[in-house]
Amino acid sequence: MTPLQQGPTCAWCGRDIDSTGRGRPRKYCSQACRQRAYEQRNNVSGTQIPASAVILTPERAEQLKDSLFELRCAAEDIATAVDGGEDPDEVRALCEELVAMARKIEKLRS
Ligand SMILES: [Zn+2]
Repeated sequence: MTPLQQGPTCAWCGRDIDSTGRGRPRKYCSQACRQRAYEQRNNVSGTQIPASAVILTPERAEQLKDSLFELRCAAEDIATAVDGGEDPDEVRALCEELVAMARKIEKLRS
């Protein structure tokens, strides 16, 4: 099972950042993400919108809602499997699927 602790993730896209390097931990996974964060800071400066706001198009918000619905269905499938006395290996496989889905959803801006 995937460990629960979370390594450093990009402040823009949420992807994992390799933390192998020494020195100050990086905030962004790439120059592109750093740039997009910089652009947003400029675009929202002088407005009430926080510089770190996650701004989504309505389409993307809709996709996210769909993904969360799928995630809920996957969790309900696991509950059903457990209630039905399903084989632990099968339950574990369903859990791993759920974790993979959640990890994808965590990347809000991708
Ligand atoms: Zn990134």
